Amino acid sequence: MFNSSFTALSIWNDSQVRENLLWYLAVSTNEKPAKYLIARRIPINVELKESSEEKLWEEHEKATLLFLKAWHDIKSGKIDINELKSADPSLIDLNVELTKRMLTHCNFCSWNCRVNRLEGKKRGVCQLEHASKVSSFFHHLGEEIVFRGNQGSGTIFFTSCNMKCGFCQNSDISKDKERGITFTPKKLATAAWLLRMEGCHNINFVGGDPTIHLHTIVESISYLEQLDPTDEDLQHIIKVKADYLFAPRVNSAFANHQGLLNVPLLWNSNFYMSDQAMKILRTLMDVWLPDFKFGNNRCALRLARTPRYFDVVSKNHALLGKWGENFVIRHLIMPNHIECCTKVVLKWIKVHLPHALVNIMDQYHPDCFADPNNSQFDEKRYGDLARRPTKYEIVESFRYANELGLNFEPITYEKNMSDIRL
Ligand code: SF4
Repeated sequence: MFNSSFTALSIWNDSQVRENLLWYLAVSTNEKPAKYLIARRIPINVELKESSEEKLWEEHEKATLLFLKAWHDIKSGKIDINELKSADPSLIDLNVELTKRMLTHCNFCSWNCRVNRLEGKKRGVCQLEHASKVSSFFHHLGEEIVFRGNQGSGTIFFTSCNMKCGFCQNSDISKDKERGITFTPKKLATAAWLLRMEGCHNINFVGGDPTIHLHTIVESISYLEQLDPTDEDLQHIIKVKADYLFAPRVNSAFANHQGLLNVPLLWNSNFYMSDQAMKILRTLMDVWLPDFKFGNNRCALRLARTPRYFDVVSKNHALLGKWGENFVIRHLIMPNHIECCTKVVLKWIKVHLPHALVNIMDQYHPDCFADPNNSQFDEKRYGDLARRPTKYEIVESFRYANELGLNFEPITYEKNMSDIRL
């Protein structure tokens, strides 16, 4: 009933949408097992605590090859998850250990701050130590239809960010690292468990940005399969569950693939991630929702104080295509940035990921330092972003995407605020 109402949504009649999100849809409807269940069944052959980080990465490379073979065989129907034995230690444990090591010289994202976040004596750009805070979690009914469906996207909002966009549309949490409560990995797993048991179509890790919480998220995923939530953890997390009064009842049938707790994991990120973070997430995320904002390094440096943006983010997008992942690219139309950003990003997608699903978003509004009504308004730096995009700018963005032959209409038009269509 729950699965059939999701698959019955008309968006899935679009063959391109379906093809691009085939794996995600199969996991969401419990026809296939999530990647984390496969990773749990990939054995590793290395001493986790004793080995050097270099040695762990060597083992990760080997285990990833085994994972990809198993993933391929499960996708094609050649094997079934229950033909694979749960391993101890497994690729999941290796991912956990690697993120713990990375935390001591943080290279989760491309700032590559190299600070020891366990010690916490020095802070990196995100200003975080090792603890992760969640500001809220709930059934998100505002995401793309393929993610929100009819039960919502199980969205978990983490605090702080590694980019410094002066116009941030989520600044209450991205610029305030204290705006939330601490979630241990077990508590985070409990939140994911609850959202899925309430019928959410996916677990959507977002912020701020989730990358800066990589260690907490990866460890939480390692608990999902066997999770037996405690009352204490449930009582703690419920404090920030934004929709608990309206949420549907818990039902394990929503999350069941052959008796295993199953849910697709969604990485909703600015994509300013390190190569190492990408490698770890490849074996855990079933679907990706990357942002691609700026068409050049210069605009990103001025408006988001983020160096090498285009180089890093385009490289990570290209990896998704190379790896055969399921994803939807988000691009936010910004006023006065149609030529330097929108068109460049769209052209890049055409050249490198011509079949990708794209959401060209028209909801930009001036916020934070770009908002003339805000006392912190910085006209010199963000004056070009101090208004909404015009109708002409939105139409021109759509026209250009159409001219390029991009696959943007089904996702974009279903959701765009302005109701502008070509
Ligand atoms: S997550 Fe990124 S910004 Fe934060 S400390 Fe690590 S490398 Fe620096």
